[in-house]
Amino acid sequence: MEFRRLVICVLKNKCPNCQVGNFFSSSVFSIKHFAEMNKKCEQCGFDFKQEPGFYFGASYVSYAMQVAIFLGLYFGMIVFYHLPITSFIIAAIVLQLFLLPVIFRASRLIWVSLFADFKKK
Ligand SMILES: [Zn+2]
Repeated sequence: MEFRRLVICVLKNKCPNCQVGNFFSSSVFSIKHFAEMNKKCEQCGFDFKQEPGFYFGASYVSYAMQVAIFLGLYFGMIVFYHLPITSFIIAAIVLQLFLLPVIFRASRLIWVSLFADFKKK
């Protein structure tokens, strides 16, 4: 998958195959339902539930994204501004809570984009 298509489908939460159909069935701001996915793309019929346990690997993508965010926060707060470590820990926890739905969705979309067989456009 070309990088431009990956960025578009992750930012817009669209189908990685056609970039038109919605990947998730609810809003990212819905606290209870942010993780609910559509079974298939309503535009192209692409199967989002590839196989049981397919999205287990998305946890590795999520872990990498969180490490990158925490390292950026650490260097920003501790190294450049010399703030106390407790402020870093509090900021990391708060940031983690607010970014949970975004990271969850982005990691699933990146994972399915890496391993799915797409039609050429
Ligand atoms: Zn589609």
